[in-house]
Amino acid sequence: MHIQFVGSGDAFGSGGRFNTCFHVVSGELNFLVDCGASSLIAMKRLGIDPNAIDLIVLTHYHADHCGGVPFFILNAQFVAKRTRPLTIAGPPPIKEWFPRQMETAFAGSAHSAKKFEVSLIELAPERPWLFRNAEIRSVRVSHGLPPESYHGYRISIDGKVLAFSGDTEWTDSLIELGRDADLFVSEAYVYDRPVQMHLAYRQLLEKLALIRPKRLIITHMSDDMLSRGDAIAHEKARDGLIVEI
Ligand SMILES: [Zn+2]
Ligand SMILES: [Zn+2]
Repeated sequence: MHIQFVGSGDAFGSGGRFNTCFHVVSGELNFLVDCGASSLIAMKRLGIDPNAIDLIVLTHYHADHCGGVPFFILNAQFVAKRTRPLTIAGPPPIKEWFPRQMETAFAGSAHSAKKFEVSLIELAPERPWLFRNAEIRSVRVSHGLPPESYHGYRISIDGKVLAFSGDTEWTDSLIELGRDADLFVSEAYVYDRPVQMHLAYRQLLEKLALIRPKRLIITHMSDDMLSRGDAIAHEKARDGLIVEI
């Protein structure tokens, strides 16, 4: 499984990083996990072909994770001349969110004719979802209300497991989400100062022996985290970083 950090930033441009987006390729599978507001720009900078992407999996509906979807769709429609179908999957209420997001970004775009089909899939923790040879397990995390609208994911492809926390404060569901994963990508927005809705690196460290990922990469860091240098003992994501698992 080939994973590239298209964007490793937070919502506020900390460190000049792009919003959250990971590009995953495994065999014939080619998909994004999250597509933040700046993700189309970041993809073009990295030379990633948007037309090759079949699926976008969204963790939640904050613009630094999903705000790039209207740009992706309109680029597909008017610039890249996409014809292959696109699936967008995420927590509820994805079917209400999608037209609202399109209309907010570009009035009139939600129902304009396209040369490609867009399928919206609502994911839930009780329904692991198969997309070709990928099994995508949704895990409810703790990042806002209603709780069912915030997911982390445990994605299994050909025996390899990629786990992503999404945005969340500490919740025990992260143990199941990341347990023994080949790669656990976890947000750690702050170092030790407790904040609402996000994880502190020190909190994650305290729980790491329960999660036991084979590899841990920290992402979605604030300026506070980015200034800590060697105090962060684990690998840190950066825009463009490629990981093979
Ligand atoms: Zn975020
Ligand atoms: Zn968020």
